[in-house]
Amino acid sequence: MTMLQALRGTTDLLPEEVARWSAVEHAARRLARIYGYREVRTPVIEEAALFLRSVGETTDIVQKEMFRFTDRGEHEIVLRPEGTAAVVRAYLERNLHKTEGFAKLFYLGPMFRAERPQAGRFRQFHQYGVEAIGSTSPWVDVEAIALCVHILRECGVGDATVWLASMGCRKDQARSAEELRKRLEPHKSKLCKECQARLQKNVFRVLDCKNPDCHAIAWDMKAFFLCNDCTAHFQEVRRGLKETGIAFDDTKYFARGLDYYTRTVFEVRVKGLGAQDAVAAGGRYDQLVEELGGPPMGAFGFAAGIERVLMAAGTGATSAEPPARAGVYLAVAQPPLIGEAFRLVQRLRECGVPALMDYDGKSLKAQFREADKALARLVAVLGETELAQGSITVKDLGAGSQRTVPLDSFIEEISREEQGRCH
Ligand SMILES: [Zn+2]
Ligand SMILES: [Zn+2]
Repeated sequence: MTMLQALRGTTDLLPEEVARWSAVEHAARRLARIYGYREVRTPVIEEAALFLRSVGETTDIVQKEMFRFTDRGEHEIVLRPEGTAAVVRAYLERNLHKTEGFAKLFYLGPMFRAERPQAGRFRQFHQYGVEAIGSTSPWVDVEAIALCVHILRECGVGDATVWLASMGCRKDQARSAEELRKRLEPHKSKLCKECQARLQKNVFRVLDCKNPDCHAIAWDMKAFFLCNDCTAHFQEVRRGLKETGIAFDDTKYFARGLDYYTRTVFEVRVKGLGAQDAVAAGGRYDQLVEELGGPPMGAFGFAAGIERVLMAAGTGATSAEPPARAGVYLAVAQPPLIGEAFRLVQRLRECGVPALMDYDGKSLKAQFREADKALARLVAVLGETELAQGSITVKDLGAGSQRTVPLDSFIEEISREEQGRCH
């Protein structure tokens, strides 16, 4: 029979890999708490309309990359391609704008995009993201960027640069779009078919066209205006970052390819990661809450890709948890004693002591090998003779010593040594 495989662009994580992932997730959760962000969990499936209205109908994500299907011929459903829109939906649906106002939330979980799988791009990938909803203060931007940089440093990501820009408010964006359209119009024939259409629908998309010609032409001609308010806001963000000691590069304009962004946008890029060099990115989205049916409210968020963070951190850079260790291996000298041994193992486990045993009647020698493999500190050998005498032999693998312990006090004694709870 042919063996089935995981779908293209998805991957299994084996225990050693999960240990590295857990280290990143643990750091992310710990720092979120320190910065005052609380966890939310939203569903993996959402109505397609949510992303059409937020990420934008003309974006690559919505046009080409969403896993979209019709649920029993009724609802247009997608596997979420990103986290922000869902968090804002939940914020509004559960009335946090009325009960809490300003809320700082974070999430961790899988996202899905039907992309051509390549290095650094997966169809199921995982993000850690934060959203601060209900404030236009530039200090919210500074705080979130500081948290992002802090997490990456904690996870062992070196050689990272924070790229910073402002995309302005909706008015600035309309003005910049008009100007870019005017400048590109005479060169229309040099653009790809798709970009010719983009000229009318959403001219900014020409900037992120994968066709190098379009890209070069558009970048040469990009227009980019900031009104006085947006200039002042951006100035405050830069000042705040400088005063906090967070280095950034604001010399190169860039735009994020999602429609909801306004004002501050940032990306953290890491050298040596190739084309997919952004490990985290985000920005301000001051219109999104209103565009999803809520009151006018400023907001800021970012997401970091767990896969990319781990790639950027390299091997061993993240402080992985120590490998799981069994405290006690209970070796059974004769298979009929398996039941007796299991009862002892179970009592140890209930005391919080990691305990293992064999159920397949392996030889004592093989059981000792397993104990070694499991990094057990002690091997307790239960045999018929000992059982008749009401005792059990305990070998300390590290010290190389051996003792006989009365069965009555075995659990209590081992529990004390292994910092369990039953003594
Ligand atoms: Zn503006
Ligand atoms: Zn193009």
